[in-house]
Formats: sequence, C-alpha cells, structure tokens
Amino acid sequence: MRLVYTSLIFIVLSFVSLGQGITILIDPGHGGSDPGHEAADKNLLPEKDLTLKIALKFGSYLTEKLENVTVLYTRTDDRYPTLDERVNMANSKNVDYFISVHINGSPNTAIKGTESHVHSMSSKASVKLARAFENEFKTRAGRKSRGVKDSDDREHSLQVLKFTEMTSVLVECGFMTNVSEANYLNTTSGQDVIASALFRAMRSHLQETHKNISFTKKTSGSGTTASVGKTYSVQIMSSKEWLDTEKGSFKNLEHAVSRTQVAQTGYRYKYFSGTFSSKSEADDYCNEVKKKGFPDSIVVERKN
Ligand SMILES: [Zn+2]
Repeated sequence: MRLVYTSLIFIVLSFVSLGQGITILIDPGHGGSDPGHEAADKNLLPEKDLTLKIALKFGSYLTEKLENVTVLYTRTDDRYPTLDERVNMANSKNVDYFISVHINGSPNTAIKGTESHVHSMSSKASVKLARAFENEFKTRAGRKSRGVKDSDDREHSLQVLKFTEMTSVLVECGFMTNVSEANYLNTTSGQDVIASALFRAMRSHLQETHKNISFTKKTSGSGTTASVGKTYSVQIMSSKEWLDTEKGSFKNLEHAVSRTQVAQTGYRYKYFSGTFSSKSEADDYCNEVKKKGFPDSIVVERKN
C-alpha cells in the first residue's frame, strides 16, 4: 500500500515539475571534423574542445544549483551535429532557451573580448539575456565586453539563431586568435570563470522572467555540494576618486580592472582585477600586482 502511495505521489510530482520546468538546450559550437577557430598557439586546444568544456561546466552549474531546470546538450563529446540538426533539436524538443557557446577569431590578433549574439534586436527576451551575459562577463569575469550584436551588426544571419523558435543567444567567450585570451581560455580557472558568468546571468534571467517558478534548490543538511561559482578577485585599491579603469597604471595589469562603488562618501570606490576559481591563483596574481604599483592589494572572495 505504501508503495502505491509513494508511486502516486511520484507521478503527481512528476507532472507538477514537468508543467512548470524550464528546459535549456546548450550547444557547444563545432565538434568532430569541424575544429572551429584554431588557437593562436598550436600547443593550445582548438575552439571545439574549449566550447565543449565551458558548455558542460555551465550546464552542470545549472543542474547542481537550480531546481526546475532541465539541461540538454546538442553534443557531449567530440562529434559534429550539423547546424540543421542543432536547430531541429531545439525546435522539436520544445526547449525554452537555446544557448550556443563559441569562441571568436579575427585576422587582427590584437582584438579580444566577449560578444553575445542574437538574431534581431527586436527579439526582446534574447536581447535581455544577451545583455545579462555581457554584463557578467564584464563585471564579474573581468573580461572586455564587446557588447550585444544582431544580424544587422554582423551583416549576416547565424543559422542557429535565425531558425530556433525560442529565446536564443550565441556567446563568443573571447578570441582564439588573441594569444593572452587563448591562453586564458585554455586554463581550467578561465573556463570556470566563464562558465560561472554564464550561469549567474542565466540564473538571474530565469528568476526575473519566470516569477511563478521556484529555482531555489533546497539543500539537504548533509549535502556538501561543490561551491559552484565561488570566485576570488584581487582588490587592488580603494579611492575617494572615480578613476578610469582603462587608463594609467591600470593598463599595465594582465587582467581588466573593474570599479565598484561601496559608499556615498570617503573611500567610495574599490578597484578589482582578475577573477579566479582558486585562491592560490588569486594569491599569485596578487603578488604580481603588488609589484606593479599596487602594494595594498589583497585577495577577496566573491560569492554568488
Ligand atoms: Zn565558433
């Protein structure tokens, strides 16, 4: 008898969660015979391997951290689904979101930074999500953001954005052709930071857009879930002044500098550089920064 009740409850719960759940299809760009952009340095992995690593990490954060979210992938290993197959999967499975993960390339090796692409600026939901990705890339991941672009900006359409019928965004997580960015994206820490940025943007977007759905996971008492998205940064200085983060000695630092206003008067601004998934990497960078004219630098933990 108890078994019958348990089964009934399970069936009812399944229907409830099916009714209100959100499905996200994550598309790691390229794969198999299509390597995508090759790295600036031949010792580094090509685009197809990095998109897979970042996509799987992004998806695992979503499933580990959020309730009522189902994550699907267009590929989970080194194979090449055609663009038609990727689009068909999104449309036939009726997913709510399609997120394609890529890394850019350019003949100009000096160009670096992230971009989030939508089909058209008139698709409001896609633009909103794309802006959220760029905002996280810039503020928390410390990347240079090149903004949100549509087919008019690109002067061509992207098949996976044009023909998918749901909110869809293609993120370019940096440039393979820029040596420092390719190196960064080849580190586990860099991949963690990018995946965390995608996760945080997606989570805020879901919470704001689907207010009737609870995404908060109830953590079981004994569960020692991984500290997803916990990152470290280096606070390089506090100042009473608003300083341009792209000028002066800030420019000598390896990672972009971000500014946060913490008070209305006095030392109102704090300046940070770099985002790291491990404390030891942040410590190493902190020592480097101290030598470059920021002797008061300290490592700070940034929670989600
Ligand atoms: Zn690509």
